[in-house]
Amino acid sequence: MSIDKNAQLFERARQVIPGGVNSPVRAFNAVGGTPAFIARAQGAHLFDANDKQYVDYIGSWGPMILGHGHPQVLSAVQAALLEGFSFGAPTEREIALSEAILALMPSMDMVRLVSSGTEAGMSAIRLARGYTGRNKILKFNGCYHGHADALLVKAGSGLATFGASSSAGVPEHVVQDTIVLEYNDIEQLEEAFAKYEGQIACVIMEPIAGNMNFVRASTAFTRRISELTKEHGALLIYDEVMTGFRVALGSAQSLYAQQIPGFQPDITVLGKVIGGGMPMAAFGARREIMEKLSPLGPVYQAGTLSGNPIATACGLQTLALISQPGFHEALHAKTGQLMAGLKAEADAAGVPFSVDHQGGLFGFFLLPELPSHYEAVMKSDKPLFNKFFHGMLSRGHYFAPALYEAGFVSSAHTDADIQATIEAAREVFKTL
Ligand SMILES: *Cc1c(COP(=O)(O)O)cnc(C)c1O
Repeated sequence: MSIDKNAQLFERARQVIPGGVNSPVRAFNAVGGTPAFIARAQGAHLFDANDKQYVDYIGSWGPMILGHGHPQVLSAVQAALLEGFSFGAPTEREIALSEAILALMPSMDMVRLVSSGTEAGMSAIRLARGYTGRNKILKFNGCYHGHADALLVKAGSGLATFGASSSAGVPEHVVQDTIVLEYNDIEQLEEAFAKYEGQIACVIMEPIAGNMNFVRASTAFTRRISELTKEHGALLIYDEVMTGFRVALGSAQSLYAQQIPGFQPDITVLGKVIGGGMPMAAFGARREIMEKLSPLGPVYQAGTLSGNPIATACGLQTLALISQPGFHEALHAKTGQLMAGLKAEADAAGVPFSVDHQGGLFGFFLLPELPSHYEAVMKSDKPLFNKFFHGMLSRGHYFAPALYEAGFVSSAHTDADIQATIEAAREVFKTL
């Protein structure tokens, strides 16, 4: 057996980078084993340090909706590179990207570009608090909105109680205004609005929760959130960092608006796809809300690399390509093919399995039925998942290395890629 370069690199990385990685999920802590160090990627395929090839179902956790190295995206980025990396002054491409985003998202009149989803989520909450003059924020167990202090909270013991910080280094007083509720639980929601009457600045949620695998907010739950926030003068923040431009061209909010006439969130948070793989995120809202932001208004927000010219070039070209008619319908069908194939193989092998997907986002659970909230997700059989994960990885099919993460399909995935994955799963399910 030749030298394992992944293992060598991991050993070297661990000397200089905590855990050998710059974002925890990459370390394979949940599934065990050595992470693959990726040397390059093309289309739907990753190549690691040993030159082993994988079908990529992570897509950089969402941004790579066109796959890797799309020729038109590459040329847009190359052209931008020659004009300069960063100026710290406004550019025309920032306007073009903002216009492109607003044209697809009728809930927003204005948008502010930032560099990461964490930054966008944190700023959206500051804006909601500044706009309403209230402090309390309401979030849901299992939703992730970046790692800002006030959001690193786990559910408390009682119903609708304040959460406890879920990270060392976050003082309790920083999270004392964060209320954590169970996803899809209307009763808890009503209870919280009654209990904290006049104090709630915002509800922040993932419309389809992609950070506890794949869990949809029910239509009834979404409708009630919309009603309660309106009734109580609180803002609804839709964190579409993962779902934005991935589940539909109009993002998840367009899907809920089909079910709930007139439905719109107050503030939308975006990231991932809008940068096409470059550091780019955004938050936007109606004009009266966005005008509270500096330099127009009293809510401070800034960034040296915000609206970076390379990132805007990459995002603009990505948005142009995914705006082509039928793009998301084709992606939805392709992702559906993968889910139906995996489900059929699991059924044939007698493995409990449930699946859901929307656009290029999917979730599968080693559970007989789809879960509707975090606790139910975590009932998944972890050793069984880990066996499935490693079985697929060793056969060259790279799924997210934790049972509570979503999966991603790009337009670069071919029928042959999907078929190969389904065939590998047939073998792996037999070993479970
Ligand atoms: C990824 C993600 C974030 C954080 O974005 P970063 O760019 O990693 O900071 C926030 N919210 C959701 C829903 C996400 O999926």
